[in-house]
Order: sequence, then C-alpha cells, then structure tokens
Amino acid sequence: MLTIKQYVKVQSLEEAYELYQKKNNVVLGGMLWLKMGRGSVNTAIDLSGLGLDRIEETEEEYRLGAMVSLRALETHPGLNELTQGAAAESVRHIVGVQFRNLATVGGSVYGRFGFSDVLTLLLALDARVVLYHAGEMPLAEFAALPRQQKDILTHVILPKAPRRVVYLSQRNISTDFPVLTCALSHQGKKYTCAIGARPMAAQVYGDEKGILTGGVTGESARAFAADVAGRARFSSNLRGSADYRREICQVLIRRGLLAMEEG
Ligand SMILES: Cc1cc2nc3c(=O)[nH]c(=O)nc-3n(C[C@H](O)[C@H](O)[C@H](O)COP(=O)(O)OP(=O)(O)OC[C@H]3O[C@@H](n4cnc5c(N)ncnc54)[C@H](O)[C@@H]3O)c2cc1C
Repeated sequence: MLTIKQYVKVQSLEEAYELYQKKNNVVLGGMLWLKMGRGSVNTAIDLSGLGLDRIEETEEEYRLGAMVSLRALETHPGLNELTQGAAAESVRHIVGVQFRNLATVGGSVYGRFGFSDVLTLLLALDARVVLYHAGEMPLAEFAALPRQQKDILTHVILPKAPRRVVYLSQRNISTDFPVLTCALSHQGKKYTCAIGARPMAAQVYGDEKGILTGGVTGESARAFAADVAGRARFSSNLRGSADYRREICQVLIRRGLLAMEEG
C-alpha cells in the first residue's frame, strides 16, 4: 500500500516544481498507477487546481493539459477527426470507462510505460511535450530522457497537420495490457511507425530506405513491416515471447498500412 504523509493542492506550477525537487515527494496524475505501488511518500502534489484539465485548440495545434483524462482524449470529436478515430482506438482497451475517466494524459506520458498505448499513438503524431522547467521538446526526445530528472509535465501538443493515421494493438484478452502496439501515420511523403509494448517504451521507425516511396501495395507493406520488425528490439514477458512479438509486429504494420491505404 502507498502511504502519503502530506497532501498539497498547489496554487502554481512554480510551487509544484519546487515541492517536487524535495526527496520522496511525488506529483499526482489520476493516481491509478501510483496507487499500485508500495512505500511512503512525504508530500503528494496535486495539480488539479491549475486548469490543466482542458483540451485547447488553435489553428495549428491541440494543447492537451496534463490533467486531461484518457476518456476526454477518447471522446474528443476534433482529436478523433484529426486521427480518423485512432485517438479513441488507442485507449478504448484500457481497463474500462471509469478508469479512463481518472487516468490522465500527463501521468500516462510522464510514466513512459513500456506497455503504453498512449505513448505509441502520440509518438506517431509527432507530439511535443511542455515541461515546466525544461520547456517544450519533441515527445521522442522526452521519452529518452533519464528518469532522475524531476520536472512537471504541463501539456502535450499535437500538431494539426493533416495526415492519415491508424492505430492497432494486439492483446491476449480484452482490457489486458497489450502484447504489442502499433501506430502508423502518413503525411506527404513521410511514413512514421511507432511500435510499443515490445515490452519496452514505444519507439519510432521511419522509412529511411524508401520502401514505401512508390506507394503502399501488398508487397511494399510486407517489405516495410519486415524492415521495421528487423530493426526493432523485442523482449519476452508473461504476455508473449520476443519472437512472437516480432511476428505480430509485421502483421500489425502490414494490416495498418493497407487499412490506411484503403482509408
Ligand atoms: C491496472 C492498470 C492497467 C493499465 N492498462 C493500460 C493499458 O492497457 N494501456 C496503457 O497504455 N496504459 C495502461 N495503464 C496505464 C494507465 O492508462 C495510466 O497511464 C497510468 O495509470 C498513469 O496515469 P495516472 O493519471 O493514473 O498517473 P499517476 O499514477 O498519478 O502517475 C504516474 C506517474 O506519472 C507522474 N506524473 C503524473 N502526472 C505528472 C505530471 N503532470 N508531471 C510530472 N509527473 C507526473 C507521477 O508522479 C507518477 O510517477 C494501466 C494502468 C493500470 C493501473
């Protein structure tokens, strides 16, 4: 069980950041992952009074506050239009609606979980994150940062650039953690493929060899899938072996590319 000695609902990001620098203090998202842990926390830092539960829209981008719930991401009409439903598809398997009403975008991204559907989708959308201290940076850069750095994630930014998007995951049973996650996007000549739950945190693979330059066909989709599966690192856990994941990776990429092509 997690024991919290002191709880502070902060009035500003500065207050949150300063408190967070002290040993054994934690920032709270929806607390769904945190509450699974054991040990003792000195001060739990609640960001819920800072207006970070909004999805804001400008001409160029969507700005998702860290406290936006996964359910809000799932049901947001603009985000689903932008991603052709991939936003909803990426989270709909996560436990249940009540759970997704509480789990936050900030906790999901900051956690950089090896099984994350959310991270997989956002990486394929060229998302950026805003950190209170370190500022704005590409999500891929943030995902590679050492975990010891303590910062407050305030927003996730999604560019509105029109692109085709497909999200697929493989699960042994509905609502379980994924065996593999796959998000594909196509913008102009650029294909981006994010593979997660390898079971390491999602990673992005491009088409540097130009396999898809002539368009997506059954053959080129198969070749690109084999290329990514050959480059990605996979491991085994109780949900599947590395070899099984490599096979599934090829299937998901091929299906995803063909689905994207068919619209
Ligand atoms: C049983 C279970 C099943 C799950 N299944 C899946 C699944 O299938 N697919 C999937 O993608 N995810 C899954 N998840 C993860 C879930 O969707 C959330 O990503 C996770 O619970 C974290 O979100 P949270 O809001 O609960 O964050 P919390 O648990 O509150 O926080 C998580 C971490 O992020 C830190 N944090 C939170 N917000 C911030 C912030 N703004 N700035 C800095 N640090 C912050 C916390 O200190 C903590 O270290 C599952 C989780 C559980 C518990």
